[in-house]
Amino acid sequence: MKALQLAEWKSAAELRDVPEPDPRPGELVVRVGGAGACHSDLHLMHDFEGGLLPYELPFTLGHENAGWVEAIGEGVRGVEIGEAVAVYGPWGCGRCQRCRLGMENYCTRQAEIGASGGGLGRDGGMAPLMLVPDARLVVPIGDLDPVKAAPLTDAGLTPYHAVKRSLPKLGAGSSAVVIGAGGGLGHMAVQILAALTGTKIIAVDQRREALDVAEKGGAHHMVLAGEGAAEQIRDLTSGQGAEFVLDMVGTDPTLQLAAGTVRTLGDLTVVGIGGGTLPFGFFTIPYEATVATTYWGSVPELIEVIKLAQDGHLTPHISTFGLDDAPNVYEKLASGQIDGRAVIEPGS
Ligand code: NAD
Ligand code: ZN
Ligand code: ZN
Repeated sequence: MKALQLAEWKSAAELRDVPEPDPRPGELVVRVGGAGACHSDLHLMHDFEGGLLPYELPFTLGHENAGWVEAIGEGVRGVEIGEAVAVYGPWGCGRCQRCRLGMENYCTRQAEIGASGGGLGRDGGMAPLMLVPDARLVVPIGDLDPVKAAPLTDAGLTPYHAVKRSLPKLGAGSSAVVIGAGGGLGHMAVQILAALTGTKIIAVDQRREALDVAEKGGAHHMVLAGEGAAEQIRDLTSGQGAEFVLDMVGTDPTLQLAAGTVRTLGDLTVVGIGGGTLPFGFFTIPYEATVATTYWGSVPELIEVIKLAQDGHLTPHISTFGLDDAPNVYEKLASGQIDGRAVIEPGS
């Protein structure tokens, strides 16, 4: 079968022929209905030298996947052949306390394991078939279309976790700023904030079309990034700043905007892996504002995200492409031509 693989560091992924996976005892194979093209894949391709990440090359990209159970190995219970499932992305040891709590994103034994999951060191979903090492890593999606469910597993789950940990600060009269609000993760963050809170949602992006996507998702105010953005946000928050600022970009200018618009006692959460830094000192951040990065989310949170989508509160804005188009899709993503999420349909 064909697969989009990362074969060399500091280079674009390429379509290559690989053998079809065969499940060993305990494993399963998923026919991939949808595999989201995440901006992290661009970082993987271009931002790391060999040895910086504990991943062996080549491997198939695609860490945001949903599809149908195609085959199960001996001893696999609790899943049916043909069942529609989402694949939980971060694969931990499955046995430590964090993993038992469903937080495989923060597995205690990650350093020993090396690879972080399918598409992140192990073969992912940018191929018609994907091997999943254990049934604990799939979640049933019922009637949801796998093409629309795929983005929920990362573009949905990551901001869901980030928003949930700040929920106590997002009561009536509060404000939340999403930077990068029309991208894959950003537009999901806007919808999640709208579904879970009554907060005033301020969307920031550097592209007008991206702001349109955020507006459709429930953002109340749209701010074009660049000169004057911080002032606009302060005006929209009565000069106080926002209780919650979610930076989905993470470059120097966006971190500076975030620090300049978060309120005292607020949360500044950095999800974007843009490589920027935030100077920290007594006068650089408002009093008692907390700064944190977050990485992905837990299995129980993924189940909640799927439920939100099933109940109609979360609808990824997607464009779909065949596997042959995947290299081209990443070029488009790199040059800012994708609104919401691009989803590859490898198994159709
Ligand atoms: P994307 O390319 O789909 O979206 C990024 C959005 O940010 C785009 O709409 C773009 O126009 C906008 N943008 C870029 N520069 C901007 C600026 N200076 N000011 C305002 N807006 C700007 O990317 P994505 O797939 O949503 O991923 C977003 C980031 O999150 C990436 O860095 C990715 O690697 C990272 N990520 C982190 C996690 C995690 O667990 N921490 C998980 C997934 C992705
Ligand atoms: Zn991702
Ligand atoms: Zn573990």
